[in-house]
Amino acid sequence: MAISINRDNCVGCGLCLDSCPYPGAIVMEDGTAVITDKCVECGACVDSCNADAIEFEEAKRETGISLEQYKGVWVFVEHRKRRIANVTLELLSEGRKLADQLGQELAGILIGHGVEGLAKECFAYGADKVYHVDDAVYSHYSTGPYTAAFSQLIRKYKPNIVLFGATHDGRDFAARVAVRIYTGLTADCTELSIDTETGLLNQTRPAFGGNVMATILTPEHRPQMATVRPNVMKKLVPDYDRNGEIIKFDAQITDKDILYQIKEVIEHTAKTINLEEADIIVSGGRGIGGPEHYHLIEELAEVLGGAAGASRAVVDAGWVPHYRQVGQTGKTVAPKLYIACGISGAIQHLAGMQTSDFIVAINKDPEAPIFRVANLGICADLHKALPYLKERFKEILD
Ligand SMILES: Cc1cc2nc3c(=O)[nH]c(=O)nc-3n(C[C@H](O)[C@H](O)[C@H](O)COP(=O)(O)OP(=O)(O)OC[C@H]3O[C@@H](n4cnc5c(N)ncnc54)[C@H](O)[C@@H]3O)c2cc1C
Repeated sequence: MAISINRDNCVGCGLCLDSCPYPGAIVMEDGTAVITDKCVECGACVDSCNADAIEFEEAKRETGISLEQYKGVWVFVEHRKRRIANVTLELLSEGRKLADQLGQELAGILIGHGVEGLAKECFAYGADKVYHVDDAVYSHYSTGPYTAAFSQLIRKYKPNIVLFGATHDGRDFAARVAVRIYTGLTADCTELSIDTETGLLNQTRPAFGGNVMATILTPEHRPQMATVRPNVMKKLVPDYDRNGEIIKFDAQITDKDILYQIKEVIEHTAKTINLEEADIIVSGGRGIGGPEHYHLIEELAEVLGGAAGASRAVVDAGWVPHYRQVGQTGKTVAPKLYIACGISGAIQHLAGMQTSDFIVAINKDPEAPIFRVANLGICADLHKALPYLKERFKEILD
């Protein structure tokens, strides 16, 4: 894949230079744009050009591809510390259903270093095959090498459907892969199904602030690619007697693919556990009264071994960072226990947590809508209730 400039069409307007995020990747020579070897083929310039002068060379070749060549459902296997992310297990479970409906195989795409053992779990959750790319360069997730390896795998094996978790990593590189392969990507799906007539993947996601559900199709390009929100698909009961085939793949990574070096990895502390992976979440809303009181939320979360979340009101006020936000424009979570403290229960908050197994609401207003979804309601001032609960749980759990 390469980006080419048709210098006859180029009018030298410079819009592509403004759109390019990589300094020196496009330069002006004799009044027209020229791509240099600093280009990483992100494609930002292609859309910016009003003169039809810039295009993906592969895009030209791929138009009119033979769709029948593309077979199989793939799931990107996200993992950290030799543990597969929950969302991957959910997607393998969902992918199994899609693959069965299509009469095609399900494969996990496992990129990493020294993680071949994780293939077993992929098979237990329904995979028939695991494509494994192993090298020290993949020791930590890194945008460039992962994008390059995944794109090369797709070019070689031509899958029909590719699914990624809508996590930081999945969102980061799925879009890049889609651009390299010249196909579409539906971000943040909450529902997937196969159209019985056409065999196309229905990629459904909320649109217009959650007011409509949009179903998006990729009829003319392959693979059909989607990122899917964690905690919306149900996991299968794993079958550890299942087995499958491991296919090793050597991807070609060049210096151009290494966009940055990872110097240090700072681990999550109990206070910053990833909300999407947590079994217990204690969330604070505007009712906490100010950032100086958020420690009440963190301390109860710490005692329970859970994560601390927040409503958007708290995030918008700058009391806590956005990564803690639960809801429609934050994280979708489904922990075993969700404790909502000083949160009114607006529909947009509920959208992100109402599938939790057990919901406890602490609110001083007995009419607060959060009580309608709560399994247990505590009508109290959280400044009194939270220290009391913290001490009681400490006694019980110590
Ligand atoms: C497009 C869009 C997307 C949105 N996305 C999200 C989202 O992702 N997540 C989200 O959370 N919101 C989201 N919102 C905002 C949402 O509509 C609400 O405004 C927000 O959830 C309210 O936050 P809150 O419950 O903390 O605050 P409030 O609605 O102000 O509620 C505070 C609650 O605390 C209670 N309280 C006050 N003092 C105490 C006390 N001492 N002890 C106990 N209880 C007390 C009050 O009775 C009240 O019920 C979105 C809105 C829009 C329009």
